[in-house]
Amino acid sequence: GHELEGRVAVVTGGASGMGLAVAHALARRGATVAVFDLAPPGAGELASMLAAEADRVRSVAVDVADGDQVHRAFAALLEERSRLDILVNAAGIAPPTAFEDITETEWNRVLAVNVHGTFLCCRRALPAMRGGRWGRIVNFSSTAGKTISTTGGAHYTTAKHGVLGLTRHLAKTCGSDGVTVNAVCPGLIDTPMARGLLPEENLERATRSFPVPRVGQPWEVAELVAFLASDRAAYITGAAIDINGGDLIV
Ligand code: NAD
Repeated sequence: GHELEGRVAVVTGGASGMGLAVAHALARRGATVAVFDLAPPGAGELASMLAAEADRVRSVAVDVADGDQVHRAFAALLEERSRLDILVNAAGIAPPTAFEDITETEWNRVLAVNVHGTFLCCRRALPAMRGGRWGRIVNFSSTAGKTISTTGGAHYTTAKHGVLGLTRHLAKTCGSDGVTVNAVCPGLIDTPMARGLLPEENLERATRSFPVPRVGQPWEVAELVAFLASDRAAYITGAAIDINGGDLIV
């Protein structure tokens, strides 16, 4: 049904991969979705969306690592909608650089997009959520947030560990205002990012030994995020939920 009817959502990184799948999933459940990404989704990405969903999705050009751009994008949205209920931080970059070859510039950029961007968006979104006494924040960590990244570099592993720290800290301080803060930790998911890091046959090979022996699909992660964004998940907060075909069973 339309369990998110009337909700206003921001999805960073929503022009591609899992963020795009999340934008679909939230719009399908009735939410109005603002996609914050460097560039709007291409015609191909939008064509995959049903017209009724596409009507509820709007995109805004934002570099999440830039405090002024983030500030302006949220201000414009709040001006128009007067509320903000859901924030999904899916924007991310994962260069596969070997440790010795990571420049200071690249290190800073990976932390800036994955961690600082998540901080900036959470900081801007929280007052509106607290004001409405309801909110859902879902941050994208990774298997790399719990162990060592097999594809991205040390900066990516560090960043995704950082996302979990931020998630847990915020969850502790926001729960009494009706705001939950959770992280999802995807394994290998079939997105442009993963395909850029691993050729198709390697994606297959890398996932063959998983208990569920295949690559994950963006919509499968989007289903989890949509659940976390709903009323039904009110008692889940501070969690870092694995979604990886069983790659990380402890
Ligand atoms: P993707 O590359 O398909 O999509 C990421 C989106 O983020 C792109 O549209 C990109 O333009 C946007 N983005 C990048 N930098 C940005 C910035 N500074 N400001 C705004 N938008 C920016 O990647 P994906 O695989 O869908 O990844 C989504 C999230 O999931 C990322 O945080 C990624 O680190 C994480 N993740 C991916 C995998 C995987 O296997 N694909 C696994 C675990 C975690």
